[in-house]
Amino acid sequence: AKLYNLPGWGTPYFSVKQDGQLVVTPQGEEGPSISLHALVQSLQQKGLHTPVLLRFPDIVADRMEQLQGCFQTAVNRFEYQGKFQGVFPVKCNPDRELITSILQCGQKFGFGLEVGSKAELLMAMSLLAKYPGTNMICNGYKDAEYMELVLQSRQLGINAVVVLEQYQELDIVLEVSRRLGVRPVLGIRAKLTTKHSGHWGSTSGDRAKFGLRPREIVNLVDELACHGMLDCLKLLHFHIGSQVTNIRIIKEAMREASFLFAELVLMGADMKFVDVGGGLGIDYDGTFSDSVHSLSYTMQNYANDVVAAMQEVCIQRAIEPPTIISESGRALASHHAVMVFDVVSRPAAVSEVDEAAGVSVEFSSAKALTQQLRRAAKSGKGHFLLMTFKEVYEGIEPDVSSLSEAYNDAVYFKEEALRAFKLGVLSLEERAQVDILFDATCQRILDVAAAALLPLPEALQPDTRPHSATYHVNLSIFRSAPDTWAINQVFPVVPIHRLDEEPTVAATLADLTCDSDGKLDKFIARDGEDPAPVLPLHELHPTQPYLLAMFLTGVYQEVMGSAHNMFGATHAVHVRATPKKRSPTEGRKSQSGEPAGGGLVEEGGQLCGEGFVVDHIVAGETIEEVLSRAQHQGSHMYRAIRNAAASAVMDGSLGA
Ligand code: PLP
Repeated sequence: AKLYNLPGWGTPYFSVKQDGQLVVTPQGEEGPSISLHALVQSLQQKGLHTPVLLRFPDIVADRMEQLQGCFQTAVNRFEYQGKFQGVFPVKCNPDRELITSILQCGQKFGFGLEVGSKAELLMAMSLLAKYPGTNMICNGYKDAEYMELVLQSRQLGINAVVVLEQYQELDIVLEVSRRLGVRPVLGIRAKLTTKHSGHWGSTSGDRAKFGLRPREIVNLVDELACHGMLDCLKLLHFHIGSQVTNIRIIKEAMREASFLFAELVLMGADMKFVDVGGGLGIDYDGTFSDSVHSLSYTMQNYANDVVAAMQEVCIQRAIEPPTIISESGRALASHHAVMVFDVVSRPAAVSEVDEAAGVSVEFSSAKALTQQLRRAAKSGKGHFLLMTFKEVYEGIEPDVSSLSEAYNDAVYFKEEALRAFKLGVLSLEERAQVDILFDATCQRILDVAAAALLPLPEALQPDTRPHSATYHVNLSIFRSAPDTWAINQVFPVVPIHRLDEEPTVAATLADLTCDSDGKLDKFIARDGEDPAPVLPLHELHPTQPYLLAMFLTGVYQEVMGSAHNMFGATHAVHVRATPKKRSPTEGRKSQSGEPAGGGLVEEGGQLCGEGFVVDHIVAGETIEEVLSRAQHQGSHMYRAIRNAAASAVMDGSLGA
């Protein structure tokens, strides 16, 4: 576990058992645990194959409780008279099951939603109608239709707040409000000068895409006052960018925003809410450092700084403390999704290819070698090169200078062969023989040195590093982890079994797309430095699947993922902790009569384990579905191939 820094980024949800299996404990330390490997095996027995996205909604619930708890602690500590209410930014992950479970579990503390487009708004309206009074923060580009929907949401009992991000939006909301006869609740998004420097820092600062600058805010307040609607302005919002890694930036932003808030109150607005946006980060590499893949503050530090800044200004300016809203997405939902995929192959080593083709670098006799080289030599140059190289091979003596000279000559002949090949004077067969002779010479040097107890030339010293290899994995990074390609984000990748065995291969991962960017060659570094270029993995067993998982992928990856190379969405499986502990072996057997995968059994059509149930499975896209997105129709394609096959049978090029 330490090798992958698992305690750093995974605690308390992910850990390793003594038998080398990676387990998930979705409700935190106290709750039941499930082995990922056993879970995936059970799903496979039901025909659900990897890659599969596992969702643990209990993890989101636990993160929400933590966020609420941290703010409550801060409120108590600073004797803040207002309260905290979170909203989940739908853009982070609009999955229906996820959003409904966020609303269900957040109901007790009035947890709402943040939306940034008409589609998100319609979805949130339909879900929030069940929770009267819940906050719906409406950001993004807004036209008249958007404003109508927001005001209609208010008529449904939702506390919908229009956040004005561009000055022109004021005229639109005023017109729609007059037309519908509904008074809006308005917010202002401020363009703070405080800027952060991480991946998503361009969201902040004077040049940010969204938000109003101080003089626009002043004009807007004046205009609202002219229309007798200043009492509609109730919220101040800012968002300085996602994954803020340094708490200093949060402190600075809060100072700027809290004074802005106080000024708005003094200008006559009926301010009730301060919405501090997103930005609360997570520790991707588990190093708790200033690295862009980590963060150097806790959720509690964050809550303390937000509440303390607001409290200070409220006391100083004698104003009513507002309800604090945060739009944390990454911090709440990243941990809940785990992408499990398998290693499908590893390119064969040259020695394996040689063996399959019957090629050997050991020759039965000098005569056999001479014959082999003569057969391969197709030109005068080739013949000369091979025969001279053969003399080097045969002339190796058991002394240090001969070994080193033989190695240098071998390197020279190999380079010379490449030059001759590029000039077109060496055939491919001749070059292949040079390659074989090179390996044979190196092998002989090793054998002679070992027999005579001589030191080896430096280049032939045994490599103490684990050997490196590229493992092909059943995954499209463009579909399942686009940030790794787009912004060099690193996610923890760990085998989900065999963690009691020493990994001996330093691997990079190549995905199934035919795009050379479709690879993972940056992995979390344990020292918080630059990402590591290789991942320690195990040797593959010829008959045993090797399963890996990518963690912390619960936000942005699914929505940003694309069907590059026509790889569709993977299966997604929701696994929930059940309220009571249940034993899989108590009189329950799978259809085969044995507990499935050593952990889960089928009961009433559902897979259940001790303390768990697989409560929802969303099947991945079929090839036909992916093709239809590009307007290719399965039936047309079938007909075209069938007609072509019939013609091929008719003209004899295809057997009937
Ligand atoms: N709010 C707004 C306006 C955003 O643009 C974003 C995303 O960048 C968020 C909230 C979510 O931020 P995070 O995922 O850092 O919590």
